[in-house]
Amino acid sequence: MSKMCESCGMPMKNDPQGGGTNADGTRNPNYCSYCYADGKFTFEGTLPEFRDWCYKGMVEGGMSRFTAWAYSWGGYLAGLTGGLPRWKKQ
Ligand SMILES: [Zn+2]
Repeated sequence: MSKMCESCGMPMKNDPQGGGTNADGTRNPNYCSYCYADGKFTFEGTLPEFRDWCYKGMVEGGMSRFTAWAYSWGGYLAGLTGGLPRWKKQ
């Protein structure tokens, strides 16, 4: 089992669902429930678009704008996603 989501880098232990879901309803341990549901990614697009999407989602989820920005644009997610399997080909 992965320690973090291979799409967004979120620690899997922070995912209340414990992972994404495959098309057949089984658990997918490689991606979190925010990124992957019912056998497909919940967001399709480029990495910059994905960061913007993460930022908006975190602010809507109650995170402060600064923290959300720091996570999505300020280096944390940027550094992680550069090496995460989903984005390696970009
Ligand atoms: Zn994720």
